[in-house]
Amino acid sequence: MREETVKSDITVVGGGLAGVCAAIAAARLGQTVSLVQNRPVLGGNSSSEVRVWVCGATGHGVNRYARETGIMGELFVENQYRNKEGNPYLWDLVVLEKVRAESNIRLFLNTDVHEVEAYGDKENRVIRSATGWMMGSERRIVFESEYFLDCTGDGLLGFLAGAEFRIGREARSEFNEEWAPEIADDITLGSTILFYTKDAGKPVKYIAPSFAKDITKTTLPMKRVIRSGDSGCDYWWIEFGGELDTVTENEAIRDELWSVIYGIWDYIKNSGKFDADHMTLEWVGALPGKREYRRFVGDYILNQNDIIAQTRFEDGVAFGGWSIDLHPPQGMYSLEGGSKHMHPDGIYTIPFRSLYSRNVSNLLFAGRNISASHVAFGTTRVMATCAAIGEAAGTGAALCVQKGVTPRTLYREHLQDLRQTLLKSDASVIGYSNEDHEDLARKARVTASSEWKQLALEAGKDTYLLDKDIALIVPLEPGMDAISFLVNSGEKTELTAELWNTGREERYIPSRQIAVASVKIEAGEGQWIRFPLTWYPDRPQNGFVILRENPLVSVQMAARPQTGMIMLENRSKEEKKPDAVKVWAQQRVFRKLPAIRVEPETTAFSPEKAIDGVTRPYGGPHMWLSEPIMEGREEWLQLTWPVQIVAGEIHVTFNDDVNVDLINLHHHETPFQVMPELVKDYRIEALAGGEWIEITRGQSNRVRKVVHTLDQTIVTNQIRIVVESTNGSPHAEIIELRVYEY
Ligand SMILES: Cc1cc2nc3c(=O)[nH]c(=O)nc-3n(C[C@H](O)[C@H](O)[C@H](O)COP(=O)(O)OP(=O)(O)OC[C@H]3O[C@@H](n4cnc5c(N)ncnc54)[C@H](O)[C@@H]3O)c2cc1C
Repeated sequence: MREETVKSDITVVGGGLAGVCAAIAAARLGQTVSLVQNRPVLGGNSSSEVRVWVCGATGHGVNRYARETGIMGELFVENQYRNKEGNPYLWDLVVLEKVRAESNIRLFLNTDVHEVEAYGDKENRVIRSATGWMMGSERRIVFESEYFLDCTGDGLLGFLAGAEFRIGREARSEFNEEWAPEIADDITLGSTILFYTKDAGKPVKYIAPSFAKDITKTTLPMKRVIRSGDSGCDYWWIEFGGELDTVTENEAIRDELWSVIYGIWDYIKNSGKFDADHMTLEWVGALPGKREYRRFVGDYILNQNDIIAQTRFEDGVAFGGWSIDLHPPQGMYSLEGGSKHMHPDGIYTIPFRSLYSRNVSNLLFAGRNISASHVAFGTTRVMATCAAIGEAAGTGAALCVQKGVTPRTLYREHLQDLRQTLLKSDASVIGYSNEDHEDLARKARVTASSEWKQLALEAGKDTYLLDKDIALIVPLEPGMDAISFLVNSGEKTELTAELWNTGREERYIPSRQIAVASVKIEAGEGQWIRFPLTWYPDRPQNGFVILRENPLVSVQMAARPQTGMIMLENRSKEEKKPDAVKVWAQQRVFRKLPAIRVEPETTAFSPEKAIDGVTRPYGGPHMWLSEPIMEGREEWLQLTWPVQIVAGEIHVTFNDDVNVDLINLHHHETPFQVMPELVKDYRIEALAGGEWIEITRGQSNRVRKVVHTLDQTIVTNQIRIVVESTNGSPHAEIIELRVYEY
């Protein structure tokens, strides 16, 4: 046995996606980090040990332009490239490699932290160290740090340090939450074990173990969907333990879950009700995936009303968008459905004050244990959101080390630093833009070889029968006079189009009607129908154009997708819930658009967008788009300064289409390995002595953000990026350019 002490600036306990992203964020900012994980693999519930798919703010396409950027965004894009089919083992590797790439991280796998040394009175605790036992190695390791992050999910580190926490549901009166119970209780969401099945290609016998439950004596066959061929996350509803203590009763919960899994399989294989002769069990989890346990109390407790109102917190450092997704206390044995969902009108922000302890001054947290009410936790708990929270908390911890302040002081005195650091790392801070004084690009004039101005999409082969309303999100900059659709009609009829605003930049639903136009049309194919819908808003924003249902008419669809616009269908006839983001749905028309012509030309894709400081769609696309690239003509974007500058580092952010869901660890598949909108080959040039000199280049690029550190600094007053090829888009698309001296 070995006794050791490991000193680092920051200790992160828990290697789920929250802990992984927290550790990477802090390490990239120059801090030394111990990442301590009690399992042999990273990823927590997303790992191959549990196999929950990583969902996030997109909510399976419910929210538009809602995919996470930053470290979670990198993981998504890398996993899509390396593991398009969503193999759980390959996902483990993607996560492990990201951590291993950081030389400032010391990773301690198989190391269970179960002792904490802390001092101070109840209201002012400080953690001195956390101690873990590395299983299989007989190493007892004391981790000493200035700051600690509890990313354990269950919150053991903070608990042992004396951090205030809650378990269970708040009373409705506390935050006036519609979905909270009248009286507070200790009910949590339960735990689940997943299993995989496969077709063996030949008959396979199954003899159930003695402990398998006879599920015909339960309500499961009646109340839950059981199908041969289902696998993995299809069985998310095998949930138990909401009325127990999900940690201290973990072993009993596992036994119950196993008995049900082996019983379900017995039912599928041997009841004669399923075509399952060739089916076999491929894998059964051994570790209950835990949904909920402690939630720490920070300086702010996020609640249902914040989520639904999409409260814009000044310290909003991460965002979510999953529905408030709560389950009945009885889990799988409940006679109700397995879950209920409430959707806000789009994404919402998560305040930094919910990411540090109210009473332990050097403790931050990230993941499912943040300072949120039970109801708000119902949405923040999904893993890509936990990861974005992790990046914010890790960044906060790093800044605390650098400035020698507590997280609370960081919030009170250095919020702008925190936001700007996150933005520079490509994390999304909704509603805030780049104001980095060191970024020389902000002082430059931007020009380009060309700019996409004419919002015109020519028709392809497909048509869309207008048996329901459709809508189009269109950037209005400076505004709109008219929009034309290309339609086919079997008879003389009338078509109506409406222009609405969306109310807020992060919303993509109709809010207030601005204009309506009805046009009589003749029978005939291929008619461009022009709707005079005029609006010049006082600031650029998206317009929500609705083309009302008329089953006599088909709309001709555009030949290809186009950055900057989204088509939606009105599913109010099929959708049970009135939530606007569900009613106006994009899933069935994903990356499809109608053929259109918008008047007048737009400046929404002008070169200046590359330095406007906003790096994700927000009331408009916020990126430069060239005209479609033509053979023999190079597209470039250029920064010009009135005086010579010294450049040593250039940051380029390309468009990886954050509207696309990259959640492939279960049934969802995105067809392309690399996002087509990303620039592939490019060179960066500086003007020196009257000539363009190549100073760096990118080859076969497939990522969103690239930082080019130049071998030696260059003195110039003009820098340009020349796009040589893309991964599929006809346009050169650049979201942001930053230039630094160092
Ligand atoms: C069955 C199920 C279905 C779900 N469905 C979805 C879904 O479809 N999509 C989605 O995104 N989310 C889903 N969730 C929610 C999501 O998985 C969790 O909220 C999320 O994993 C929380 O992330 P985390 O990093 O905080 O914690 P975790 O993923 O739990 O990771 C925490 C890690 O810390 C480690 N740890 C714990 N204690 C210690 C200690 N003392 N010392 C060292 N390490 C420790 C744990 O082993 C674990 O690996 C589901 C959850 C479950 C259980």
